[in-house]
Formats: sequence, C-alpha cells, structure tokens
Amino acid sequence: MNISIARLQKKIDALKEGAQKELQVLEAQLLDKKRKSLIVCQRCRKRSPVYSWIFIQGFRHAPPTGYRGGDYWNRSKVEDCHIVCHKCGNENRIFTHPQKDKILTITGGVHDKLELFAEVEERYEDN
Ligand SMILES: [Zn+2]
Repeated sequence: MNISIARLQKKIDALKEGAQKELQVLEAQLLDKKRKSLIVCQRCRKRSPVYSWIFIQGFRHAPPTGYRGGDYWNRSKVEDCHIVCHKCGNENRIFTHPQKDKILTITGGVHDKLELFAEVEERYEDN
C-alpha cells in the first residue's frame, strides 16, 4: 500500500471524527429512550415516564471510628434510594419496586440523575 503518512493520519482522523459523531447521536437516543421509559407507581398504579419522577438520592452517615476513621457520608446505591410519583406524591422504594431491574438498567451509567429525572433531592440519613 503506497500511501503517505500524512494521508493515513488524515483518514484515521476522519474516521474517528465520524465515529465520535455517531456515538453522540446514539448516546442522545439512549438517554431519550431512558427518560421516556414508563414506571408504575405502587400506590396509584399509574404509569408515567422517568422524566416526570423525582429521584431521592440517599446518603448514609459513617460514624466516626477511632483515629481519623469514619464521620463522612456515603452515597447510597440506586436500589437503596426512592422515587416520588408526581401524580400522587407517593414515595416508591426502588429496592422493593416490581420494576427494580428496569430502573437499575435505566439509571446505570448515568451519573447525573438530573439527566433522567424531573428533580433530584438529597436525603441524609443518620443511623
Ligand atoms: Zn402514584
């Protein structure tokens, strides 16, 4: 293959740029699908899209232990958090929700929950 270094580099750069654009399009599609996924409320039994729910991010206190240990807040895993139905205001515990696996799939890989939910509240629980 008789091709110059500069041409090869150019081809590679063009391919990377194209892949990057496609990746952005697919990621936007994925986020949109996640936001529109329907979640059922365990109290009013109504189904509403993820973007209408409030996500309550829990934090658990690690008490001080000995020298310099503990006394900080741990971010709870999604399954240990709650979501609030905008229709009836009921707090649904994710751990016991019938669509727990679906919720975990939707929230997986999304660090900023505001990209999915209507609101994100933080709850600090001392135990
Ligand atoms: Zn409800």
